[in-house]
Amino acid sequence: MTTVEIQIIVYGSCSRDPENDDRYGADQRRVEILLNPILPADATTMPKKHKWLQEYLRNLPPDMKHNRNWRCEFCKVHARETVWMNSSWMHLTPPRALSYVHHVCNAAVGPCAENVRAIDAEMARMNNLPPTFSIPARDLDITFPMSASCAVCHDESEKSRKHLKQCAKCELTRYCSVDCQREDWSRHKICCKSLKEVKWHWT
Ligand SMILES: [Zn+2]
Ligand SMILES: [Zn+2]
Ligand SMILES: [Zn+2]
Repeated sequence: MTTVEIQIIVYGSCSRDPENDDRYGADQRRVEILLNPILPADATTMPKKHKWLQEYLRNLPPDMKHNRNWRCEFCKVHARETVWMNSSWMHLTPPRALSYVHHVCNAAVGPCAENVRAIDAEMARMNNLPPTFSIPARDLDITFPMSASCAVCHDESEKSRKHLKQCAKCELTRYCSVDCQREDWSRHKICCKSLKEVKWHWT
């Protein structure tokens, strides 16, 4: 049985964060998440391992997005998009993956999108790799749900946002009601059951 070590670091700004301090240093506000999913026994080749990892990561965005009242890292308005920068070393024992997730207001256009792209380019330069972040092809008028809303119904009313509760098991994903939580369980359990550690760095 092979366990995969996946680390995800989620960055953003919170509502009480007038100045985002020491960007990407030890004091940067973030949550570090460790996941230890089991690699399926039939994922024997590298392409199969990568395919499995992609599917596993594709299931995670609601959990990484809807877990706090996140604001855009750069301009501090409510965050609506997350930008993922993924690296993986599936040939190692144990196989490893690392993702940086950035909360932004708009990932496609504007100064905050430019900022997040610059971070990606800088990280790629430091790691001697090509940049990972590419702008998703989409209609620029689309508005995504607020990060501070329920992971399922995305109700943005203040009344709903005030009463969000975190999943009691992982203390990560937030829901407005038991109904929403129940509806999401078949998806969320994949993350919840493989979650090893959630560490908030929040001063
Ligand atoms: Zn912004
Ligand atoms: Zn809900
Ligand atoms: Zn959970």
